Amino acid sequence: MNIQNNLAALKDQLSENVDLVAVSKTKPIEDILQAYHAGQRIFGENKIQEMSEKQQVLPKDIRWHMIGHVQRNKVKYMASFVDLIHGVDSLKLLKEINKQAIKHQRTIDCLLQVHIAQESTKFGFDANELKTVFDELSQNTLPNIRIVGLMGMASYTSNMNQVKSEFLSLKNLFDQFKQTFKLTVLSMGMSGDYEIAIACGSNMIRVGSRIFGERKPASP
Ligand SMILES: *Cc1c(COP(=O)(O)O)cnc(C)c1O
Repeated sequence: MNIQNNLAALKDQLSENVDLVAVSKTKPIEDILQAYHAGQRIFGENKIQEMSEKQQVLPKDIRWHMIGHVQRNKVKYMASFVDLIHGVDSLKLLKEINKQAIKHQRTIDCLLQVHIAQESTKFGFDANELKTVFDELSQNTLPNIRIVGLMGMASYTSNMNQVKSEFLSLKNLFDQFKQTFKLTVLSMGMSGDYEIAIACGSNMIRVGSRIFGERKPASP
């Protein structure tokens, strides 16, 4: 597995307006450093503890993205450094992030996760809930949170038509809200479907195995 070559090949395919989150979950420090030395600065993790351990020993100009499901009681461990939280799926969680952001005198950027997959196992708001959350946010009760966009995961399926229609439904929601709420980030697409995601309007992809190789049996 040549991380630098994988990264270069991937970047060649991406136009400038698409940000690449290198998903380094379960991967060792040495692998992350290889990508770092090849110029990569945004890394994604799905466990807060693992992210914070890595953050402590790695270069400080890395921008850490939390891409996994977030437990409220763990927000405090990343509030001082996290650059973007992708998986925000409840108002309660937003309130906790706001509280911790205030403690650290910073504003934390977040994406609202939208449930676009047919699978019920995936997290996220549906379209109606999204409207409620945006309404609530427009009251300015959470001053240290900035919602900068939406995130979604397509179904785990080989049916690419289904994946495409799920991505298009998220793009549609993004377009619906982007002007009013100044959204700029649409995070969708992983190793298996980033090309479709970009064709559907994604401007942030989260790619792990294409860069770092397969992971050991998936952790939940
Ligand atoms: C693991 C993960 C990815 C990356 O998956 P790959 O298939 O390895 O590219 C992207 N997004 C989320 C939310 C993940 O948990």
